[in-house]
Amino acid sequence: MEPIKCLIVGGGPAGYTAAIYAARAGLSPVLYEGDVPGGQLTTTTRIENYPGFADGIDANALMAAMRAQAVGLGADIRSGAVEAADLSARPFRCLAAGGQQLETETLIIATGATARYLGLPSETRFRGMGVSACATCDGFFYRKKDVAVVGGGDTACEEASYLASLCRKVYLVVRRDVLRASEAMQARIKALPNVEILWNCNTQEVLGDASGVTGVRLARNDGAVFDISVDGFFVAIGHHPVSELFAPWVETDEAGYIRTDGVSSRTNVPGVFAAGDVQDPRYRQAITAAASGCRAALDAEKFLKG
Ligand code: NDP
Repeated sequence: MEPIKCLIVGGGPAGYTAAIYAARAGLSPVLYEGDVPGGQLTTTTRIENYPGFADGIDANALMAAMRAQAVGLGADIRSGAVEAADLSARPFRCLAAGGQQLETETLIIATGATARYLGLPSETRFRGMGVSACATCDGFFYRKKDVAVVGGGDTACEEASYLASLCRKVYLVVRRDVLRASEAMQARIKALPNVEILWNCNTQEVLGDASGVTGVRLARNDGAVFDISVDGFFVAIGHHPVSELFAPWVETDEAGYIRTDGVSSRTNVPGVFAAGDVQDPRYRQAITAAASGCRAALDAEKFLKG
């Protein structure tokens, strides 16, 4: 059994930032990066809204820089996932990839969230070539172009509204004849002149060629099948927080997001903290995840000092 003061699970902006702060605080953090080092950001290309980079920065380069900073300060970063956890008593017990047994005084959960996709083969084929699940990340590349957003919730409406400020035309593809989004959001989206809502439509196929997405084939509930021409296809049908492993102990909301105490990162289990998208259904930005990683490390440090 390996004794650890501060175990961080998750290698995205929240996890790496927590590792930077925990290392500087002398907590000798051990971080397991999971199966996708760098987190969700690595599914995008260039980031233009992370402060400090006047010309933007490649998402993978940003994650590599955060990781290198944490390593340089003494964090022990390991590949692979934490596969099992027992948070019933302190020190908490975890089982990591390769059968490594860990015993930790504090735990920072920074496992993130994954965007839900439709599951179409053509959607996978064009991921990163016109298919995206983040308008704030990728919308800029579709300035003055036509795009489609699929979904009818608050996220889809927010994404469509953001894209409408950049793009020539935005199609909102909704599978029913109503939006799930809040009334205020519905009013906002319906008032935008360059947003057209395609009601009762399901995506049959994302169309494209070697240059990327060129259109979408839609099937309307009355049986009609038709194509629209677009350069970008944004999927906004919800996110899925990666909290299952810890859910038997930490309190989550109905959607699985870990509940934290006010602006802190404290969960209902003393010594267990949550940071980043796994506890944030709302903002989901690299900068907000990084900031909450900082909070979690400071909270863990304070907890250990008693
Ligand atoms: P939601 O679960 O609220 O909405 C998902 C939407 O995607 C629904 O319209 C759903 O359709 C549609 N959908 C699901 N699966 C498919 C599919 N296979 N094909 C086509 N459409 C599909 O997720 P959101 O991410 O929008 O929101 C999550 C939570 O975060 C909500 O509570 C929301 O209010 C909140 N939020 C709040 C914001 C704010 O206050 N500013 C901003 C963003 C999110 P259907 O309705 O038919 O089920």
